[in-house]
Amino acid sequence: TRTFFVGGNHKMNGSKSMLESLCTGLNEQVEKKDNVKVFIAPSYPYLDFVNNKLDLNKIQTSAQNCYSEAKGAFTGEISANMVVDLGIPYVIIGHSERRNVFNESNQLITKKTKYAISLGLTVILCLGEHLADRQNNKTEKVLDSQLEDFKSFSADEWKKIVIAYEPVWAIGTGVVASPQQAQDTHVYIRKWIAENVSKDVANQTSIMYGGSVGASNCSDLSKQADIDGFLVGGASLITNDFVTIIKSAT
Ligand code: 13P
Repeated sequence: TRTFFVGGNHKMNGSKSMLESLCTGLNEQVEKKDNVKVFIAPSYPYLDFVNNKLDLNKIQTSAQNCYSEAKGAFTGEISANMVVDLGIPYVIIGHSERRNVFNESNQLITKKTKYAISLGLTVILCLGEHLADRQNNKTEKVLDSQLEDFKSFSADEWKKIVIAYEPVWAIGTGVVASPQQAQDTHVYIRKWIAENVSKDVANQTSIMYGGSVGASNCSDLSKQADIDGFLVGGASLITNDFVTIIKSAT
């Protein structure tokens, strides 16, 4: 059985006082479960603050992004080495906002992923199609192109990858993918991994769903056989909603 991951992606939100109460609430309400891993990804300035507040036996910290070099003249960037230095185990790479707002290419995302994995980080690798892609039956083609470079990753490298399928049309829109839509797409991604990497890797890789996941739709989604977790935006900023989503893990 695969690990079920529940992650809260705070994007560019939060403050010290908000995170103080969120961490306190999560420490109190989250119960440790075998096979379930929970993390939150605050904005960079709060990474160490959050990592010190959380009960790390139950909830861990993730960075939202990092660059493909160890150090140097890259103003505004942070490195995977710094994330490791803080004792943080996860980084999100390739989020649709990085791809679309900051024009990150598949090539850059591959490079960042490879580097982060080489330092021992677990990468939450985000994929997903735009509305027009889905309407034009191009979803599979888009996913193929986003996955293409990962054909050459070894089985050991794949052990450090968790996929997050996040259809762009569902992110921040309130339009969640139906359980069947998400399940079908997850099956497609798993089939791609089986055919292009290996069957073992396909069976072992957790595939999270993200896009308008909330307290009321999480339990139907989590029942789907190939949905192995959630990457949550807006609802992860609200303690009780995020706790409900964590509790829906099956
Ligand atoms: P929302 O849950 O706000 O739709 O955001 C999803 C997301 O982008 C998580 O990375």
